[in-house]
Amino acid sequence: MNLAFKDRIAWHYMLATAALIAVAYAVVFLVVQQQVYADLDRSLRYEAAKHQQELTIVGGKILFSHKGEWQEREHREVQVDPVFIQINDLQGRLMDRSPNLKADQLLFAVRTDGMSLLNSELRGKAIRQVQEPIVREGRPVGYLVAAISSEAAQHVLDSLGMVLLLSFPVVLVVLFGMARRLAGRSIAPITEITATTNRITQSNLAERIALPPRPDELHTLASAINGLLHRVERAVEREKQFTADASHELRTPLAVLKGTLEVLIRKPRTSAEYVENIALGIGEIDRLTHLVDQLLLLARFENHAKSLNRQELTVVSCVHDVLYRLRNTLNTKHIRVDVQDGDTEPIVSDPFLVDLILENLLTNAVKYSPAGSTITVVLSSGADRLTCTIIDQGIGIRPDELGRIFDPLYRSDALAHKEIGGTGLGLSIVAKACALLHIKLDVQSELGQGTTFTLEFPRGA
Ligand code: ADP
Repeated sequence: MNLAFKDRIAWHYMLATAALIAVAYAVVFLVVQQQVYADLDRSLRYEAAKHQQELTIVGGKILFSHKGEWQEREHREVQVDPVFIQINDLQGRLMDRSPNLKADQLLFAVRTDGMSLLNSELRGKAIRQVQEPIVREGRPVGYLVAAISSEAAQHVLDSLGMVLLLSFPVVLVVLFGMARRLAGRSIAPITEITATTNRITQSNLAERIALPPRPDELHTLASAINGLLHRVERAVEREKQFTADASHELRTPLAVLKGTLEVLIRKPRTSAEYVENIALGIGEIDRLTHLVDQLLLLARFENHAKSLNRQELTVVSCVHDVLYRLRNTLNTKHIRVDVQDGDTEPIVSDPFLVDLILENLLTNAVKYSPAGSTITVVLSSGADRLTCTIIDQGIGIRPDELGRIFDPLYRSDALAHKEIGGTGLGLSIVAKACALLHIKLDVQSELGQGTTFTLEFPRGA
C-alpha cells in the first residue's frame, strides 16, 4: 500500500488501538453476559428448590402435591415471568408438568452428574432451564426441570452486542481521522525541511533549515542536514579557491615565458642572450610541467582512481632511495642527514605512494633548512606500527598556519621565503596518500627552530 507517511502512522496507530478496543469490547460483553445469566440462574435455582418441596410419590409416580391450587392461580393471575416446571423419571419419561406448559415439554437430557443449566427454546421464545435430580432416601428417583423466560436477558445481550459491533467501526474511523490530523501536525517540520532543502542550490548554499522549537528527532534531523550543508558549502568554497589558485599558479609561468619570448624577438640578440633567455623559458616550462604533474596526481587521488599496489617494503630503504636522489642538493647545501634505523622490519604498503610521501617530506626538510644544518630521520617500532620521524632545523611554521599547510596550493608565509620555490601542492598530496594508506600524519613546528613530521605506518595491509 502506497500510503503517505502521516497516513502510515495513523494506520498503525489505528490497528493497535483496534486490537485493544476489540479486547475491551469482548471483555465488557462477556462480563455483562455472565452477570445476566447469573441473575437468571439464581432465580431458577430458587424455583427448582421450592418445587422440590412440593412433590409427592404415588405408586412410583412423582407428582406435584398442590397442582389444584396452582391451576387455579394460573387462571386468576396473569404471570409476567412464568416459571415452567416439569418432572421426568430416570429414563426421561414425562411424569407431570406445570399447567402453564400445556401440551409442551421442556428439553430433557438424561444426565448422571448433578445439576445442568442450559439455554433452549419454548414456543419459539428463548428460555433458560435447569435440570436437577429428585432424590429420595439417598437415591435418585427422577428429574425436575425448571425453566424461565430469558427473552429479556437475551434482548439486553443482543442490544449490547449490536451497540458494540456498530460502534467499533465508527470509533476506528474517528480514531484514524484524529491520529492522521495529529500525525500531520507532528511531522509538519518535515515539509518545512523538504521545502528549504529543495530551495538550496549552489548559489544559495549559505541558507539553513530553521530548527524546530522542540529538541526531538526532527530537530536532530534538521541539525544534521544543516551540518551537511555547512560541510558542502566549505567543500565548494575550497574547490572554488583551489580552481582560482591553480589557474593563477598556471598563469604565472606562462606569463613569464610569454614575456621572455616577447623581449627576445623585439630585436636580434647575441647567441649568449638567446641561450640565457631560452634557459629561463625552459625553467618556467619545467615549473609548469611539475605543477601540472602534481595537479594531475592530486586529481587522481580525488577520484580514487589509483588502485593500491600493496607489497612488502622496508621504510629505511625507501628513505635511502630518496636521499640518494637528493644527494646533489644535500651536497650543495652541506646538509647532513642522520638516519637512525631503529626498525628495519618490512611493512606492507604501496611503494610508489610511500616513496612519494617520503620524497615530499624530505624535499621540504631540505628546502626549508639552512645550509650546514642537520636533518634527522628516526625509525622506531610501536606495537603494530612503525614510526618514521623527520626532524629538521629549518625555518619552522607559524602555529596559526600549521592547520592550513595541508590545503592544496597553500604556501605558509610565502613572502617570508620568496626565494624558496614551491607549488603548495606537496603536503596536500602527502596528506591524501597517507589517508589512502591509513598512515597517521602529524606535524609539530616552532618558528625559527625547526619542524618535525611524524608518520605512523600500520604494519599489515
Ligand atoms: P611547497 O611546494 O610550498 O613546499 P608544500 O605543500 O610542500 O608546498 O608545503 C606547504 C607549505 O608548508 C610550504 O609553503 C611551507 O611554507 C610549509 N612547509 C612545509 N614543510 C616545511 C618544513 N619542513 N619547514 C618549514 N615549512 C614547511
